[in-house]
Amino acid sequence: MKAELVSVGTELLLGEITDTNAVYMSQRLAEIGVDVHFRHTVGDNLGRITSVLELALSRCDVVIICGGLGPTQDDLTREAISEVTGRPLRPDPVAEEHLREFFRRRGYTPTSNNLKQATCPEGGMLLENTCGTAPGVLVEHEGKAIIAVPGPPPEMREMLQREVLPYLLRRQGDAATILRSRVLRLCDVGESTLVAEIDDIIRGQTDPTVAPYASPGEVRLRLATKAASEEDAVRKLDEMEARLRERVPQNIYGVDEETMEVAVGNALVEREATLAVAESCTGGLVASRVTDVPGSSRYFLGGVVAYSNEMKRDVLGVSAELLKEFGAVSEQCAGAMAEGVRELHGADFALATTGIAGPGGGTPQKPVGLVYIAVADSDGTVCAQHNWPGTRDQFKQRVSQMALNMLRKRILGIPLEAG
Ligand code: AMP
Ligand code: MG
Repeated sequence: MKAELVSVGTELLLGEITDTNAVYMSQRLAEIGVDVHFRHTVGDNLGRITSVLELALSRCDVVIICGGLGPTQDDLTREAISEVTGRPLRPDPVAEEHLREFFRRRGYTPTSNNLKQATCPEGGMLLENTCGTAPGVLVEHEGKAIIAVPGPPPEMREMLQREVLPYLLRRQGDAATILRSRVLRLCDVGESTLVAEIDDIIRGQTDPTVAPYASPGEVRLRLATKAASEEDAVRKLDEMEARLRERVPQNIYGVDEETMEVAVGNALVEREATLAVAESCTGGLVASRVTDVPGSSRYFLGGVVAYSNEMKRDVLGVSAELLKEFGAVSEQCAGAMAEGVRELHGADFALATTGIAGPGGGTPQKPVGLVYIAVADSDGTVCAQHNWPGTRDQFKQRVSQMALNMLRKRILGIPLEAG
């Protein structure tokens, strides 16, 4: 089943509000296997709404139009449907009574404008609106379906769930499928390297489809399948996930909402180990992310934000000589910070970050973006050097991501250079 979506409202074209309805409808339709081929945005203008509807009807099975069902002069969706189908608008007695009752309860008398909402293109039907006054419209015309839903997002969502999606499922009949997707989150690999490594899978695969996309600090693989049932979908996604895990065994750290901090938390719980952090350039972001995870008190002891040399020296025990000889942004300092905080808190694992976030403060030897990340545990201390110039925000996000990943690998016993 091919669908086109039409969002009506001049305010959308002016950029005054964002077309969140289109996004929501696309997501829900994808889930029930309806292919959305086009999305349109059109102003409150009868001629233009009509021409968009004509175009959409010329090539798809279902048109869903949202907005423009209100009582005012610029609400023209009903009129446009009437125009393209040649079906005159007729009062719907049941809807009219609903509307009168709605106003009566509030002590108002509806105007003729209000009653316009209770009209329906001949041969169509109105869809009840349980959270507002504007009913939806459903017209089956020359083998196609035209469905209009209200613009206010809560009303649209409610009507879509209760009336429209079940209708579309019925209309699809035996051909009905569901679309289910799963996102694998990968670290330590660039998008192009990953694509090269699983090229044959990406190319050869039509169901589930496998699509890579880069997102800040990681690469994701979206697996999507059309299936006849929930079980069928899960089985197909499981099979594909297993194939991919075989190819890139070290890289997949999480699935769907499983963030890096969740993965770290799981690894610590599994090992029954504790964590402390010492942060300079990330300014507490690592601790913040670790504590975003419910239940993190089981393994997270705490952290120190040691920005100045004095804090590094007096709180973390980084020696003045070390700071003088190598500087605060150095492998030696990162290692000493991790060891210092580990001792201070009696933690099994400790993580430290120190770097130059910029935009100022860089030198030819130590440019903006230079960062050292260290992990200390009972086996010793490991340190990694990276260079990630960017905005301060990007820098902090990236360092926190890589620091947590380094920690995760250390906890799981994955060699740091692996992946
Ligand atoms: P309407 O049904 O066109 O009178 O729209 C009523 C209200 O719903 C508008 O003022 C917007 O606040 C909201 N709205 C309409 N269309 C959309 C849309 N596509 N996405 C998000 N909000 C919308
Ligand atoms: Mg409007």
